[in-house]
Amino acid sequence: GSVLEIRGLHVTVGEGDETKEILRGVDLTIRSGETHAIMGPNGSGKSTLAYSIAGHPKYTITGGTVTLDGEDVLAMTVDERARAGLFLAMQYPVEVPGVSVSNFLRTAATAVTGQAPKLRTWVKDMRTEMEALEMDAAFAERNVNEGFSGGEKKRHEILQMGLLKPKMAILDETDSGLDVDALRVVSEGVNRAKANSSVGVLLITHYTRILRYIEPDFVHVFVAGRVVEEGGKELADKLEAEGYAAYLKADADAA
Ligand code: ADP
Ligand code: MG
Ligand code: MG
Repeated sequence: GSVLEIRGLHVTVGEGDETKEILRGVDLTIRSGETHAIMGPNGSGKSTLAYSIAGHPKYTITGGTVTLDGEDVLAMTVDERARAGLFLAMQYPVEVPGVSVSNFLRTAATAVTGQAPKLRTWVKDMRTEMEALEMDAAFAERNVNEGFSGGEKKRHEILQMGLLKPKMAILDETDSGLDVDALRVVSEGVNRAKANSSVGVLLITHYTRILRYIEPDFVHVFVAGRVVEEGGKELADKLEAEGYAAYLKADADAA
């Protein structure tokens, strides 16, 4: 199995007088087949964590390490991270005019594995995965992200994950803006990837709703740029009932 290790991660955004520390020492270890939910209030730095692991240039790592099977992720280019087996759902959020979903995914698979997948098996794999995600076959010929609805964007992300078979997947707010049917289909896609390839999943959310469909092995409460509590899935129920107020107060009192 694989292991993604985040140790003492500190991250800032902005420059000069505007520099703001967002991550203040994040520690997390994710192994193959495990699902870790990160839950926290808006603005606590959850997306910053995801973007920092993704290698987004806006975020400056000021301390700590991120390794995948001992390899230094922070020293890798964005492409190298993907080739190493990291999947970040928001990696390609922009519209890619003139590139069909089908060509885009095949190009991504080629970039990740180092060779173009055989056309016949590829078409078959893509069709199977799309059917499972209850996607219309015509979707494959649409231009990437052009006019995608929220639900289509999320399905496209999970389609990518299913086809690219990463070692570790980081899903940021995969549940936001989904109706119940789309949430179920997307969640089943994640569960399939877990069953088929034991992907390790870092599931970032501020609602407990998705955790009814994707059962986490571990729940981490994330407040003001740090993990402040860890537990099993029962912790999500506690958060649903009590919210984050007590954690926010404890953080403010400590400051
Ligand atoms: P979350 O995903 O938990 O809602 P974010 O990581 O998006 O939190 O944001 C955490 C904090 O960092 C917020 O106060 C946000 O305004 C700030 N922030 C995030 N990205 C940037 C950026 N690129 N420039 C300036 N501030 C940012
Ligand atoms: Mg937010
Ligand atoms: Mg966010």
